[in-house]
Amino acid sequence: MVAWRPAPAARAVLEQADARAPHRKDGSDGLKGDDAHAARQSHHNPDSRGVVLAVDLTHDPASGINAHGMVRAAVARRDPRVLEAISEGRIWTRARAAEGWRPYRGHPHDKHAHLSIAREHENDTSPWWPADQEDEMSPQDWNRLQKMLDDTVDARLAASVPKKDGVPFYEYPIRVLLAGIRDDVGRIARKLGADKP
Ligand SMILES: [Zn+2]
Repeated sequence: MVAWRPAPAARAVLEQADARAPHRKDGSDGLKGDDAHAARQSHHNPDSRGVVLAVDLTHDPASGINAHGMVRAAVARRDPRVLEAISEGRIWTRARAAEGWRPYRGHPHDKHAHLSIAREHENDTSPWWPADQEDEMSPQDWNRLQKMLDDTVDARLAASVPKKDGVPFYEYPIRVLLAGIRDDVGRIARKLGADKP
């Protein structure tokens, strides 16, 4: 078996994630690829020096590791270490940076996010989660937040709508509503009639 080692910048992703969230899930973490990777072109395969220049980070936002957000933020700030990033069905490459994130038809990368490290920056272990930068939220996290807000608004609306015997007005049977309107119209008509000179 050929000796290999991860690029320090790639290893730093996993180590810094562990430090941030010691109880995070790591089932989809990866540095060196399996045999399936070895059969194709992949940064998970050791290069001619035996260095692996790729890392997969398990997405576990509940434990504090928003892998997709971290990768998106690294791309957004043009972290020089990022040669390639894959996240939730999209890919960004430095070579085609002007095109932004593009659809990616390979592995969907939903349980983990992928980074390929630029060889000239492979020893750079500076923070992947800069203290002054919040993670960018993934569309899935936005959707979850949106749903939480919607549920809250729904609950507040439900608490504030007029009720009769505990039933919100929009659940009254239609005949009850119509009877109420007919009564109102009759009352107004009588009042108008009474007010005639
Ligand atoms: Zn990968």
